[in-house]
Amino acid sequence: MASGDWQRKLVDWLRGRQGPDDLAVFAINLAVVLVVVNLFARTSWLAWVGLALVAYGAFRIQSKNLGARSRENEAFLKALGPARPWVQNPRAAWGELRHYKHARCASCKQRVRVPRGKGKLRVTCPRCGSKFEVRS
Ligand SMILES: [Zn+2]
Repeated sequence: MASGDWQRKLVDWLRGRQGPDDLAVFAINLAVVLVVVNLFARTSWLAWVGLALVAYGAFRIQSKNLGARSRENEAFLKALGPARPWVQNPRAAWGELRHYKHARCASCKQRVRVPRGKGKLRVTCPRCGSKFEVRS
C-alpha cells in the first residue's frame, strides 16, 4: 500500500472526529514522559498511568462527540493559565522567553513586553500612558 493511500484513509477516518487536540496531545506526551521516567524508576503503577493516558488521548482523538471534547479542551487550556503557551507551542514559548522580558506597569498593572538585552528602556504604558524604566 502506498503511503499516500494510507494518509487518505486516515483523513477519511478522522472526518467528523475530534482529532488530536491540545488535551489529547498533552495526555500522550505526558504518557511518553512517564514511560521514560519509568525506565529508570521501575514502578508498575507509572506504566499503568502512562497506558491510561495513551488510552485517554486515543479516546479523545477518535471521539465523535465534538461539543463535549471541545468544552473539555477549553477548560483544560483555561486551567493551564500562564503555562498555556508552554503546552501549546513550547518552541515559541521558549523563543518568547529568550527574546522578550515582561514588565508590569506600576500604576495600572498592565503587562508590557520589552526586548531583552537593550539596556535601560523608557517604556510608555499602552493602557494608561504612564512612563517608567525597565532594565531589559
Ligand atoms: Zn499603565
